[in-house]
Amino acid sequence: MTETAFAPRVFSGIKPSGGLTLGNYLGAIKRFVESQNAGTESMFCVVDMHAITVWQDPVELRRATREVAAGYIASGIDPERAILFNQSQVSQHAELGWIFNCVARLGWMNRMTQFKEKAGKNAEKQSLGLYAYPSLMAADILLYHATHVPVGEDQKQHVELTRDIAAKFNHDYGVDFFPLTSPVIDGPATRVMNLRDGTKKMSKSGESDMERINMTDDADTIAKKFKKARTDPAPLPETLEALKDRPEARNLVDIYAALSDTTAETVIAEHGGAGWGQFKPALADLAVERLAPIATEMRRLMDEPAEIDRILGRGAERAREIAAPILSRTYEIVGLIRS
Ligand code: ATP
Ligand code: MG
Repeated sequence: MTETAFAPRVFSGIKPSGGLTLGNYLGAIKRFVESQNAGTESMFCVVDMHAITVWQDPVELRRATREVAAGYIASGIDPERAILFNQSQVSQHAELGWIFNCVARLGWMNRMTQFKEKAGKNAEKQSLGLYAYPSLMAADILLYHATHVPVGEDQKQHVELTRDIAAKFNHDYGVDFFPLTSPVIDGPATRVMNLRDGTKKMSKSGESDMERINMTDDADTIAKKFKKARTDPAPLPETLEALKDRPEARNLVDIYAALSDTTAETVIAEHGGAGWGQFKPALADLAVERLAPIATEMRRLMDEPAEIDRILGRGAERAREIAAPILSRTYEIVGLIRS
């Protein structure tokens, strides 16, 4: 089984589990746009069925689904070039997800660190869906024979599980049917950290709004959040190595690098020696410069929910055209009669 036997196709998704963050933008959306613009066939999904693995208020779920779609489009995803849709409109995701529930092993699922983090001490009270989530994610990807999945660092383990599921399916049924998909985790901001705790990832569903920058935050809010971001008192060092044990400082440097399309090395070369009173306002200005036009466009799009729904519906139609023959062939391989 070679990984190059399949035509290149990019797939990735974001959960409508809250408002989009700077972590989602830098670690995912910005890189999706780059992948689309590089000319690779690309599919971007609003993975609403993943969102409901934890409780979502139905009204808020609809709003958040449209916000993620608006975030994609406002950032540069072109729904004509890329296929943009919400997962639940393509029922094949759930169907292939079930097949993969029967391929994935409990031992594999038990190793998933995200479930452990999200479940915390209360694992018994979590939904079965939250536990099975990575197997549905494998279905999201393999339903389209996607070869590359741009994701943040936190999703690496789930893409590796996707490869394990593909390999076991191919092996058990003696076929070469599913590709061994590669995670694509690159750039300076594959793990944007929480602004109040540099050991935790910035997340949409995190507890406090002060720990994240939302893509729709206004300039004052962005400035305030960076100003209050936790740091140590030392100024920025002259070398990157000196940031090794300073996670909060390193995070702000990485965010600066990603927002300015450069590297952490370059940021340190330019700002080494600066104190926080200097660097934080510069970072806030840069973030506002980058995010404000996107936020304005997001608001404009969200004022037209029917137009967003139309785009998602059209994307889902195109997605089903690719998904249907792959699911049919999967059923045939497994031995399920379709008459
Ligand atoms: P939730 O808290 O509900 O899990 P989230 O912010 O983690 O939300 P997801 O929908 O789980 O967002 O992830 C969408 C994409 O954004 C994934 O590719 C993920 O790796 C990426 N991503 C999420 N948070 C970060 C982050 N802090 N830094 C970089 N990438 C991130
Ligand atoms: Mg997440």
